[in-house]
Order: sequence, then structure tokens, then C-alpha cells
Amino acid sequence: MDENFNLTNEATAEELRNAGKYYLTTSGDDESLRSKGVSLLIKANTMGDREACHIVSRMILDGTLTVKNADPVEYALTNLLCLADSGDLQSRLFLNRYFSEKYEKSFGDIENPYKKDGMLVDFEGEEIKIDRSGILTPVDAVLTNEDGRNILTFYANICFLGDEEMENRYEYQSSVLDGFRKWAGKYEVFGGQELEVRVNITSEERVVDSIIVLAANKAVVDTWNEFAGVFGDTQKGEQLKNISAQRRSFAGIGFLKWSTTSVKLIYMQSRDGKFDDYETLSQTAKHEFGHVLGLGDLYDSPIDSYSGVEKGTYKELDNYLITDKLYHLAMCDNIGPVSNNDIEMVVLAFRENKQQLYQKVKKRDKISEALGKGN
Ligand SMILES: [Zn+2]
Repeated sequence: MDENFNLTNEATAEELRNAGKYYLTTSGDDESLRSKGVSLLIKANTMGDREACHIVSRMILDGTLTVKNADPVEYALTNLLCLADSGDLQSRLFLNRYFSEKYEKSFGDIENPYKKDGMLVDFEGEEIKIDRSGILTPVDAVLTNEDGRNILTFYANICFLGDEEMENRYEYQSSVLDGFRKWAGKYEVFGGQELEVRVNITSEERVVDSIIVLAANKAVVDTWNEFAGVFGDTQKGEQLKNISAQRRSFAGIGFLKWSTTSVKLIYMQSRDGKFDDYETLSQTAKHEFGHVLGLGDLYDSPIDSYSGVEKGTYKELDNYLITDKLYHLAMCDNIGPVSNNDIEMVVLAFRENKQQLYQKVKKRDKISEALGKGN
């Protein structure tokens, strides 16, 4: 029995965790109270309590709790990754920050020798100019310099199709738009140069000069499967059928090569076809928007026709490894952050009008020049 919490042997994981948290936060200099709190949290963790698992893992990482694991850091990160994967927002935000900081530490001191106050320059010292706008570019991109600050602004009109009958249409659309806006923010590119990215979105009902976001309702899925059938048993056909069966989203680029003027179509699927998994929808939309902005996929192991990016391939990506697997960066598996390197690649995509790849699909493909140089 416990004097404050009445913890019996039948105490639930939640009761143990709450008591543990209480002792820990009120312990002050009292070592015995602290260790009482820790052991309650550990017990709650072994009973499968997610919040306790989060707290215990964080304590291992910041060194306030020692465990006898071969690699405690790896153990704690893997725990947090499991939590993040199963939808725990707290763990995801923590991991995003953890990896971004690790990345900053390894590349924060890379200075571009050509860097000067003013215009953005590439690693060769050449000034970067981007002005892609007009009726034929579904995403307009303009790089401006305001009082020495470089700002890359994307303007896009989003045309939603296939969601007309959807009960929760408004929530669905805003989760998709939220996902697109996750690319906005402040980044450091080409050797310590600051770049602010703005995402300016409208959603007027017009197909021309828009990014088309197609919700896979039943009619769309049927058409899709028929379409996949045309490819028969070829690799492409299998790939298309898989996308439909696994309810994966993907961004079509008009079945031609990506360019600033190619058709931008995002095909959204949802769990049970309900489109109510807003968090997943916005994370997926974030990933697909990366394709729209000219990036390829980043997979850590071979999938579809991709070769995968192994540990040690690019030093930029090694900062994001857990148990030899990449943490889910935006172009890897949706839930992770957009990295400085991603933005550097987007800049190159719009400057050179050429898709930027992390891995080869065909033999003659070229990997983005942004990789392997740091930021
Ligand atoms: Zn993708």
C-alpha cells in the first residue's frame, strides 16, 4: 500500500504512471522519492503504458536513467519510433526535433565560401534565380530577396475532385492543405544560408493551372483497377494494383517526367475509404507535395522498383538512422520532418527544371547534386 496513491497489486498501468509522474515531479532533492517514481514508471511501461514508455525513453536519452542494454540510445529511440508509428504525436514531435538537432550539429558548421549577405548562391558560388510562374505551371515558384532575406514562395491553386459527396469534406480538404503547408518554414541551404519557404495556397474550383487532388472514392478505385488491368501482369500493372490494394497515396505527374509544367495530380486514399484519419491524411499530403515539388522517393530498403538508400550512402541521411533504418523523413515515410537537404533539392528542382532523386530507379538516373555535400 502506498500512503498517497493507495497503489495495490491490482493497480492499473495508468495509476502507476500517474503516481510515478507525481513522485518524479515533486521529488526535488529527495533521491528515494525520485527512484520510487522511476520504478513506478518502469512498471507502467512494462505493462504497455504508452505515456510511461515515452517518459522512460526520454529519461534514457537525456541520461537521467541508466539501463543495462547493449545500446540504450538505440533502445530508447526504437521505443519512441514505435510510439510515433502508432500515432503518438508527442513521440513524433520529439523524434523530429531530436534528428533535426543531430543533423544541425553535424552540418551546422559547413560554410559556403561564396556566401555573402544577399542573394542565395549554390556551392559553386553561382547566384540562384528562380522565377517559374504562368498559366502552365501548376506550382509557381519565385525566389525573392527582401532586405537581405531570401524567400522562396510557392503559389498553388488546389482543385479537389472526388470528394463532392464526402460528409466530412471540409475537414478532409483542410487536412490535405495543412499537409502541404508543412513545407513552409525556415531552412539552411547551400552551406549555412538561410532560406524561408512560404506556401501560398488557394482552392478555387478550376482544373487548369491547378494541383489536382483526387479522393479515391469507390468509382475512382474501380476506374483505377480497370486502368491497372490495362498493364496486365507487367511490373507497372502490379505496382498500380498494389497501390490500390494497400490504399497508398501517390502523386501522379502526368505519366511523363516531372517538370515545372507537368500535370500535378495527387491521388489520396484513406483507411476504409472514410477520409477521417486526418493526421494520416495530412502527413500523406505532406509527402505527396514533396513529389509535386520535384522530389523522388527516399526508401531505406528496396521497394517497388527502387533500390533503397543504405546506411552510409549520404552523410546527410545517416543522422536519421535508427537500427540501420532511416527515420521517416518526409520523402521516406510521411511522418518525419522536412529536412534542409529536402529544401536544397527542391531549390535545384525548380532552378534546373529537373526532378531530384535520392536513389536511382533506372541505371542512367542521376542522384541529386544536393546529396553528399552537407548543407
Ligand atoms: Zn512517394
